[in-house]
Amino acid sequence: MSVGVSKEGELTSASGKNGGKTPAAGLALVLFGSPGSGKGTQSKLLMERLGIPQISTGDMLRDHIRRGDEVGKAISGLMSAGLLVPDELVNTLVAERLAEPDSRNGFILDGYPRTRQQAEVLVGLLKRLGMEEVVIHLVVDYNVISARLTQRRVCPKCGTLYNSASRPSRIPGICDSDGETLEIRDDDRESVVRERLDSYERQTRPLIEYFRETGRRLYEIEASFDRPAVVFEKITKLLQ
Ligand code: ADP
Repeated sequence: MSVGVSKEGELTSASGKNGGKTPAAGLALVLFGSPGSGKGTQSKLLMERLGIPQISTGDMLRDHIRRGDEVGKAISGLMSAGLLVPDELVNTLVAERLAEPDSRNGFILDGYPRTRQQAEVLVGLLKRLGMEEVVIHLVVDYNVISARLTQRRVCPKCGTLYNSASRPSRIPGICDSDGETLEIRDDDRESVVRERLDSYERQTRPLIEYFRETGRRLYEIEASFDRPAVVFEKITKLLQ
């Protein structure tokens, strides 16, 4: 399968071979949804299937914190409190990332845009690239989300996500891929989870209306109860 978006915003398809991966020419895929809706898991699967990079603003910001640089120092308090970091900073990181050569054939945005201002900046960036976004909204029940986030574990080395209830690692607490000890993300503590869900309701969910008003391609996928592989199949079918 190969998908793309023409300048007119039509989904196009073409065939191509790329070491088993299928290049998705020009596809600007936005995975949209609440924290814990499965954006990270799905975008990793899509990256492998489509052969285009996953651009996760959360991962980029956590990298800065890990490196302990100026950006990292400025944002660690906000992130560990479950609050959004300033638009200007995220917009700059995304603009720089989209200018890299591997973004030329398309990309998957995971966790961006999250505010109206970010959505407007993205529209401008894509216009310059001659692309238009396809938004996939992963719709997940609030109670399911809350349970998922507090049971979530992450591998600090490869970023694989596990869930002690729905997707446990083979050996509890150890990553299946590289044997690292799994960690609980700082912002997956219960009080912070509440704040992240509030930020989503206040600042991010209203973007659905924005996408509708501006005539963006927006697809809703019910993702509360299906296994990740089933949600993935729903997304790929839709892109076909
Ligand atoms: P989740 O979607 O599960 O909250 P992310 O890794 O996408 O996980 O985001 C973690 C945190 O990173 C957010 O709570 C916020 O502090 C920050 N962040 C990520 N993306 C953005 C963004 N686009 N704008 C502002 N803050 C962001």
